[in-house]
Amino acid sequence: MSIADNIKSLKKETEAGKVILLAVSKTKPAAEVQEAYDAGQRLFGENQVQELVEKYEQLPKDIEWHLIGHLQTNKVKYIAPFVSMIQSVDSIKLLQEINKHAQKADRVIDCLLQIYIADEETKFGLGFDEAIDLLRSDEFAACKNIRIRGLMGIATNTDNEKQIKEEYYELKTFFDGIKVSYFRKDDSFNILSMGMSSDYKIAIEQGSNMVRLGSTIFGTRVVKHWKNN
Ligand SMILES: *Cc1c(COP(=O)(O)O)cnc(C)c1O
Repeated sequence: MSIADNIKSLKKETEAGKVILLAVSKTKPAAEVQEAYDAGQRLFGENQVQELVEKYEQLPKDIEWHLIGHLQTNKVKYIAPFVSMIQSVDSIKLLQEINKHAQKADRVIDCLLQIYIADEETKFGLGFDEAIDLLRSDEFAACKNIRIRGLMGIATNTDNEKQIKEEYYELKTFFDGIKVSYFRKDDSFNILSMGMSSDYKIAIEQGSNMVRLGSTIFGTRVVKHWKNN
């Protein structure tokens, strides 16, 4: 199936359940992003700052770009002027840096807190307690140019569906609790980003309303360095 066919069928599948489809275009050339765009897709996710900036410059300006990979504080300035959402906020220090550059760009940047749910040490993210500490902190209260829209999580990379289901169930439960405790009067705290190509159906069953799909749309990522494609 072509990229356009994949977009069309996945859009139908996700929209039926009011789930937002984020097309993860990392390592894929701009021409393939354009193909997805021409099929009606507007939300794209990248995990590296340099690649995100270069694609932003090459592609239509009504694309909404989400950063989904680990972000170093010294790179925030490159994406702050245009990024639609940063899904990978994993420290108060990073949040403060995003706030600083959002202020400079005279805008409010939508963010998700990335929560650590996987049974893998290589993954980034805040623990449940750390996320609560962050939301309660004075430092967070002072970040006027940040809007926390919800939570993001990555499940363990495993064939064990029961484990994936439990990890997503825990994150959904945590999301509901956080919403009641800290965002009761804030309707914009409404995004639970969980699910990738291998596990998005489980994630949706567990309450995800944003899935991040790469290989299901663009095919497997064989070339490691996107510029050599
Ligand atoms: C690469 C990536 C995805 C998409 O992965 P696929 O398995 O290709 O769907 C989703 N989320 C994050 C954080 C990623 O880095």
